[in-house]
This record gives sequence, structure tokens and C-alpha cells, in this order.
Amino acid sequence: MEMNVFWEEELETLSLRDLKRLQLRRLKTAFGYASQSPYYRVMFQRLGLTADSFGDIEDIRKIPFTTKDDLRSHYPYGLVALPLREAVRLHSSSGTTGRPTVIFHSRHDLASWANLVARCLYSVGVRDTDVFQNTSGYGMFTGGLGFQYGAERLGCLTVPAAAGNSRRQIKFMRDFGTTVIHAIPGYVVRLADVFREMELDPRRDTNLKTLVIGAEPHTEEQRRRIETLLGVKAFNSYGLSEMNGPGVAFECTHQTGLHLWEDAFYPEIIDPDTLEPLPDGNTGELVLTSLDRQAMPILRYRTRDLTRIIPGRCPCGRTHRRIDRIKGRTDDMFIIKGCNIFPMQIEKILMKTPETGNNYLITLKTVHQADEMLVEVELKELFTDNYGNLEKLTQKLYQEIRDEVLVAPRIKLVEPGSLPKNDGKAVRVVDLR
Ligand code: ADP
Ligand code: ZN
Repeated sequence: MEMNVFWEEELETLSLRDLKRLQLRRLKTAFGYASQSPYYRVMFQRLGLTADSFGDIEDIRKIPFTTKDDLRSHYPYGLVALPLREAVRLHSSSGTTGRPTVIFHSRHDLASWANLVARCLYSVGVRDTDVFQNTSGYGMFTGGLGFQYGAERLGCLTVPAAAGNSRRQIKFMRDFGTTVIHAIPGYVVRLADVFREMELDPRRDTNLKTLVIGAEPHTEEQRRRIETLLGVKAFNSYGLSEMNGPGVAFECTHQTGLHLWEDAFYPEIIDPDTLEPLPDGNTGELVLTSLDRQAMPILRYRTRDLTRIIPGRCPCGRTHRRIDRIKGRTDDMFIIKGCNIFPMQIEKILMKTPETGNNYLITLKTVHQADEMLVEVELKELFTDNYGNLEKLTQKLYQEIRDEVLVAPRIKLVEPGSLPKNDGKAVRVVDLR
């Protein structure tokens, strides 16, 4: 193993016993802060909970879940635990409708967040000699400032390029010798197209060596494609604004799941229907507790993200448990003809098919009183073929998707570049029913 692979070796390799002890201590502290917020104060009083209610980290189950709706209905200050003068920044979650949710941070919270992001980057070999270019939107979206401060904390030369303007992104990459890029997976695919348009080859014409991709669900097949497109390794980064943003869980160089930083977040996996805890290895909804936040601790937050805890130890030596890549969100799932379908089931099939491009769209609509699932997928550029082969490809995708999701799709192969492009989080499903 490479020497010096840890940012905070002592914390990252804590024994299970010591990790649980630290979690319990931090839970009590978080509980103390939370008790000062109007929302949790009332809850704890009603249930008679005090710091002494927790003799063991599993006692966390005495606390009810917190949901996105709880955050919305107590918008904006209901969960704030410190006097506002101690809060120095707020962020809001990205795309959803209705009342937004807002998360407040103290100086301590921001320092701890930056440290976690630095830890993530360090774990995949990023060092202070690197040039880190961030293609996230800056502003309320946590992928911007979250990575900015994390990369600065690590000492990288950090380029806040922000979202969009791909030609300028590529110019920056070349001018500043960018070695690491952070991007949404859908956007990397876009960038690769623009490289081609500019007749540049990222392998030859840039110093790129590492990609960090995250913020939206993507399959292993999509990741492998992205790695081939840019000729570098792409590491999966998971986070959500309710738990700061990026820096919650991150793949190490082994790429066998994402280490969830258990000194800062306590993970549980529950059955989303019965709300009962599930043992390691079983897929369910991820529930997270912030253990190291002061301004707005959130306890047992139902992320709506579906994953499992991967049993066993990672060869890298970190003891913090790994989560599997996110399979989708409970609210991404759509039901058609009585079948529950996640977009990732379809993406997996499209992305392992060599003739298809990287962009696709699933449209649900009602045709003659029956529900129909239309899957449009772009063909790979320069894919020229005669009608017979396209027909065969359509048939193949039809069968594979039908076997996987148990609903017969309508498949439409479309020209490269003809589906809506994604600069931000990709829209994969349009429901017109
Ligand atoms: P919003 O909930 O409005 O999208 P966020 O910006 O906080 O707000 O997004 C967090 C969500 O993004 C996560 O709950 C998860 O669904 C998704 N996400 C973030 N990172 C990843 C990732 N690496 N893989 C899959 N999904 C991710
Ligand atoms: Zn590891």
C-alpha cells in the first residue's frame, strides 16, 4: 500500500469498539444541541428523552425519524439549535418543488465539513500539488462551496469554474493544468462530446488524472463509460444538503463501495415500508444522523436513498463501513402496469449496450387508455448501420428491458445529441400520465 494514504489515520481506522464509543459521545453532544431547537425540544419533552436515555449508540432508535416534510413544515428556523448570530452560512437543497429546505452552519460546522471533503479527496490520492476544477453550480447548491472549501483545506489550487460553458471549462483545464475534476456524471458525458468537437483528446491534451462524480444516481456501467471517455478513474461521491452536502460517503481507490464517515454521520438502513432496521447487506432506505453539527443537527433523517451496507472490511484499512452505490430514490421509483421500476434498472441495460450513446429519457404516457413506457436512447456517434441492424438492436433492448422490469417498453433509437442535454442533475423520467 502507498505510504501515507490517510488524511486522519487515527479516525479513519478506529476499531469498531472505539468508533461506537465516539459515536455515542457525539450523539449525546448532538442531542444536547438539538434540544435547543424548537422542533426537537418539543419532541424530546413529549417523549421524555434526555442525554441519559442513550447508553449505547443503538439507543438512537428511541428518537423518531426526521423527514423532508418535517424540515419543510418547520422552515426556516424550526430546527436551528444555536442563536442565529452563531450561524455563518446557509445552504438549501437543490431541485425540489414547494417550500425549500434550508440548512444552517456554524463556523465549527463549516470547518468540519471542509475537513470531511478533504478527507475524501485525499483518500483517492489528491494532494496539495493538484489543481482541482469544480464544475458544480456555486450558490445554494452544496456541490459548489462544499468542494471549494474541501479542496482548499487540502491545499489544492482550486478553480471555481462553476457549471456550464464547456469550452471555457476545457480552456481552464488546459491553461491551469487541471488534474482533478468534480462533475455530475451527466455533465462529464457532455464535456467528452465538447472535447471531440474541439478535436482535443483529454488523454493527450490535458493533465487530468482523477475524476470525482456524484450528486445523482448512476450505474457502474455509466461509470465505466465515463472512465473510458476521459481516460481516468472516476470516484463516486455521495452527499446531501441535509448532511452538509458532499463529504458524507466516498469511494476509496478500491472502488468497492463508498466509505461513510461514521465519526460524523451515523448510518442506519431501514425497510421503507415497515420502518424496521435491516441488517448489513440488505438494501433499504438510508437514514443518517449528523453527529458533529451544532447549528442544525438533524437526527435520523430519512434520505429516501436506497442502498445497503456492504458487509466486511475494505482492503484499504479504513474501518468506516461502506455503502453500495445508490440504487435510486424511493421517490424516483415509478409504477406502471402494477410494476415498480427504478430508472437505474433501465440505465444499466442501456449502458452495457455498446451501440447506445450516453443520453436517454423515459417517458410515461397514456395512449388509448393504456399506460405506455417509451424509452428513447441516443445512438453512439458515428454509429452507421443499415436498417436491419437497428431493428435487431431495438428488439434486443426491448427484450432485455422487458425481462428486467417486467413491462414491455416502446424503444426509440434517436440520433446522437437529439435528447435534452443536462447541465445540472439529469432528468431521466417524464411522467405525462
Ligand atoms: P435535492 O434533494 O433537492 O436533490 P441535494 O442537492 O441535497 O438536494 O441532493 C442530494 C441527493 O442527491 C441525495 O439524497 C441523492 O439522492 C442524490 N445523490 C447525491 N450523490 C449521489 C451519488 N453519488 N449517487 C447517487 N445519488 C446521489
Ligand atoms: Zn476502502
